[in-house]
Amino acid sequence: MNKLFYFYPHCHLKSTEKEVLVYDTLTQKHVYLKESPLSKVDRESFRLGFVRVSKTIEGFVNQCFASELGYFVDFDRISPFFYGRDLEFVTSLNKERNALGHNSQSYANLLLREVTILLNNDKDDYSDDMYLQMEYPKCNAKTIKIDNILQQLSSFQYLENIILSGEIEISELLDALMYTKENNVGAIHRVMFKSFDYATELELLDKFDNFSIELLVDNSTDLARVKSLLREHVFVKAIVKTISDVNYFVGIENVIYLPVLSHNHDNLDILTQMILLEDEILQSSKSIKDCRIADYVNPNIFGHLTIDNEGYVSAFGERISSIHDSDLPFIVNSWIGQDNCIWYKTRKNKYLCKQCALQCLCPPISIYEEMGLYTSPCTI
Ligand code: SF4
Repeated sequence: MNKLFYFYPHCHLKSTEKEVLVYDTLTQKHVYLKESPLSKVDRESFRLGFVRVSKTIEGFVNQCFASELGYFVDFDRISPFFYGRDLEFVTSLNKERNALGHNSQSYANLLLREVTILLNNDKDDYSDDMYLQMEYPKCNAKTIKIDNILQQLSSFQYLENIILSGEIEISELLDALMYTKENNVGAIHRVMFKSFDYATELELLDKFDNFSIELLVDNSTDLARVKSLLREHVFVKAIVKTISDVNYFVGIENVIYLPVLSHNHDNLDILTQMILLEDEILQSSKSIKDCRIADYVNPNIFGHLTIDNEGYVSAFGERISSIHDSDLPFIVNSWIGQDNCIWYKTRKNKYLCKQCALQCLCPPISIYEEMGLYTSPCTI
């Protein structure tokens, strides 16, 4: 009689040539071996959710059983039915391209969920690299007209949010709010506190229920003033350049910390705080769905694009094309079919993480890593 060991469906399974991980997403119990006993054949079945028990992997299987990560099944000739563990897509870009020779825009257009439009910024308080981490326009004197961009966005049926980042004329903001309301899209105005026209914008907040404000504050901001403006749909992001900045924002409710690093000075104190220990990664409480998504796409950036005030479309600061050369649906459609599309850049594509079985539990690749400001969540 042969024996199979089946892993529970809520267990996240990851094996590389070196390591193996079985992780219960409900209890965080796990077996993580840095020297995997699984052979190539074992890895194939493990990917599907089971392994055939043999002398070589008996120790591993017994550890998994003791940690309540699965159960044994006896079988004679035909192995029991199991449900595939991969993410299922309604359609696939590859299949579509193979069948048609190209991707149709109708499908590609469904993928764009959020767009940030970089507007004007007449202050020169931070370096260009720092503004990039905030997804805020670098200092420029342009007044961008956003009506052309909004028009192009109307082909994206699943668009959820448009983030207007930077300074904007109130008449333009009003037009954008009317457009987003009509099209059932959320509008977020991200703005530095010192450029925030609070009297007018708070009035708009009362008129448009799809409107939110994201205030960027730093250690020179009058926090008493900020607190007096807090209400529903107003969020505060605190720019943290050094760890001592964190103390400055104590007392602001639900503040989101935004680490901003620099190539020009030592970021060691912040980087030390950003590093995750193995135990912390293994306590990450990710759902099975989130683990599977992280295996296919980068959830930090998937479905998101930025358009700057010169009309360039980019993702994580990497320029893709200009809306002055071709229209946005065409740009998105050509880009997502390319191998280097950053939406699909996961830890398994990163050399340093390729052999690590914690890939999907670890935070997705961030702008800091893309900019070379830090190596990875486990190494400075
Ligand atoms: S950063 Fe990479 S190598 Fe480090 S724990 Fe995460 S996946 Fe593993």
